[in-house]
This record gives sequence, structure tokens and C-alpha cells, in this order.
Amino acid sequence: MAKVYYDNDADLAALKGRKVAIIGYGSQGCAQGMNLRDSGVEVIVAELPDTPNYKTAVENGFTPVTADEAAEKGDIIMMLVPDVIQSRVYEASIKKHMKAGKALGFSHGFNIHYGQIIPPKEVDVIMVAPKGPGALVRDEYLKGAGVPCLFAVQQDASGKARDLTLAYAKGIGGTRGGVLETTFLEETETDLFGEQVVLCGGVSALVKSAFETLVEAGYQPELAYFETMHELKLIVDLFYVGGISWMRHVVSDTAEYGDLTRGPRLITDETRAEMKKILAEIQDGTFAREWMLENQVKAPRFRALRRKDYDHPIEIVGRKLRKMMSWITAKVPEKPR
Ligand code: NDP
Ligand code: MG
Repeated sequence: MAKVYYDNDADLAALKGRKVAIIGYGSQGCAQGMNLRDSGVEVIVAELPDTPNYKTAVENGFTPVTADEAAEKGDIIMMLVPDVIQSRVYEASIKKHMKAGKALGFSHGFNIHYGQIIPPKEVDVIMVAPKGPGALVRDEYLKGAGVPCLFAVQQDASGKARDLTLAYAKGIGGTRGGVLETTFLEETETDLFGEQVVLCGGVSALVKSAFETLVEAGYQPELAYFETMHELKLIVDLFYVGGISWMRHVVSDTAEYGDLTRGPRLITDETRAEMKKILAEIQDGTFAREWMLENQVKAPRFRALRRKDYDHPIEIVGRKLRKMMSWITAKVPEKPR
């Protein structure tokens, strides 16, 4: 089991007299910037003018500047713009300011691990990745608690990069919850694998197939929706608080017996082999290359796939049923173009 680092293992002194430049005031930028400032760290924010997030930054008491200016003035440059545009922002505005003594920071390892950003040898390259969305990172901090984080050092030019990373994690409240050490490689590859195989890809494919199976067999789509998608939340909430064993403790014996005997039949040797293939594509850069090239040509395949699923029957029936449940704040995303 990995060692967990807490407040006492980190010292904010590593940030003393140094300025943190938050590049991008979005979900993470906003939360990390405000938490650091409240921890007594000097923070400068970069955000695009005339955007909603620029306005939010002003409302939060920051005076946003350009990425260029923030990178020039900052000692720790934290890249918190969306992952797919980080390398562009880096080339245009950050690279020229990457002088010895500075540090470049991330909350996700993708661009460093896959060589989309190659910082000079003279700078520290660090990561602090909160295991939760920005809003939670901020809320927990305000409560005196913190969202656990992963941290990593890719390049230690100063010889003090690890202390700096732990200090940053402390500044955003991470060490109150506890932080775990990793590498850019491990964080990036496990993150992609998780979202592809379980969290986003695996779960949505499973739900859609189960829904289609019921509807094709003549059952009403409304019932199929309740059984294959709606109730998923109840199960996930049980996982969240007590793992698989708590879920099994709470559901009926019939449900538990069905789980134990039928679940494993779905994840066959063929499925496991496919999981290994997906992991191999993450490890050898195939996925990263595909995704970067896709973005370079304005994402035609991504857009087509998005459009196709937007009007899947489970989505149509779901939009209707969610309106009947007053406790749900129903969301209807914009139709993809
Ligand atoms: P968001 O999309 O929420 O925020 C990015 C922000 O950057 C937006 O405000 C965007 O402005 C702004 N921006 C875009 N271009 C520029 C520019 N040229 N100069 C200045 N600002 C710019 O991103 P996230 O916070 O979700 O993600 C940031 C990083 O954190 C990523 O590496 C992500 O992987 C990581 N992360 C995210 C987590 C999450 O839960 N969200 C969890 C853990 C890590 P605009 O909106 O106006 O375009
Ligand atoms: Mg993730």
C-alpha cells in the first residue's frame, strides 16, 4: 500500500516569496487559485478577456492578465487550461519564460507524458492532481478539510521539486485529506484507462447494450430506462461509501445472487483481452496520437460519434422520464454540431 502524506509532511515555506501563476481560471484554476491565496501564497491568474471565467476571476478579487504576462511574473506556472489546448498555450505564451529556477506544474500528466510539452531541463516539472472537481476542492478547503491529491515530480532541476510539490498540495488543502505519490506515467495511463474502460466508456456501453436488449425483446423503453440507467446511481452511491461489499449488503439476496452468478459471465476472456488491448494502446501512445491528430483536423470523427449518441433511444426516453422526477435537476446538453 502506498504511503500517504499529510499536512505535517509538507511545508509551505517552499512557496514563500514565490509567485504561483494559474494559467486558466476554470474548474481547477479557480479552486486552486483561491485555496492557495487563502493559504497565504501569492497568486496571479491568467484568463482570456471577455469570458465568463474572466468575470468570475474578477469577482473573486483577482486581476487576470495574459498567459504571457503570468508566465513571465510567476515562479510556479500551473497549466490549468484544457488538456487539448495546453501545448498551444505553452508554445505561444509560456515557453519563452521557462527560465532556470522556475517550475511548470500540471493537474494531469497527459501533455508531459506524451511529449506534447517538452520543458527545458532547467525547470522543475511537477504535478498535483486533486481527485475531485474544482468545486469540491474549494468547498472542502473552506470547511477546513481537503480533497486527496496525487503528486509527482517529472523533472527536479532545483533539487527541491518534491518539497515544492508537497507545499503546493498543502496550499490547495490536499494534504489535509492526504496525498499519494505517483509518476506522470502512472497518473496519465491509469486515468485514461479508468475513463475508457469503466467510468465513461465501459459504463455507457454496458448501459446502452442492456437497454437495447430489453427494448429489442419487447419491453417498454421506460421500464428499460429505469432498470438499466436510472437505478445505476443507487448502486454507485453504495460503491462510493462502502465498496462492492456494502452494495451487496444493502441489495436483496436475489439481487446479490444474480450479481455473483451473472456478472462474471458478462466480463468474458474476450472482454479482458480487449481491456488489455485498450491499455496497450494507452501505453504505446496509439490513443494519444489518435486523439491529438483528431483535434488537429477539428475532430470530425469525435463530432460524428457524439451526434450519433445524442439521440439514442435511451436518451430520448430518459429526457422524458427525468422531467417526471421533481427531485432531479434535469440537464439537457446542447445538441452537438
Ligand atoms: P476547464 O475547462 O474547467 O478550465 C480551463 C480554463 O482555461 C477555462 O476557464 C478557459 O477559458 C481557460 N483558458 C483557455 N484558453 C486560455 C488561454 N489561452 N489563456 C488563459 N486561459 C485560457 O479545465 P479544468 O479545470 O477541468 O482542467 C484543467 C486541468 O486540470 C486539466 O489538466 C485537467 O485534466 C485537470 N484536472 C481536472 C479535474 C476536473 O475535475 N475538472 C480534476 C483533476 C484534474 P474559457 O472557458 O473562456 O475557454
Ligand atoms: Mg480521471
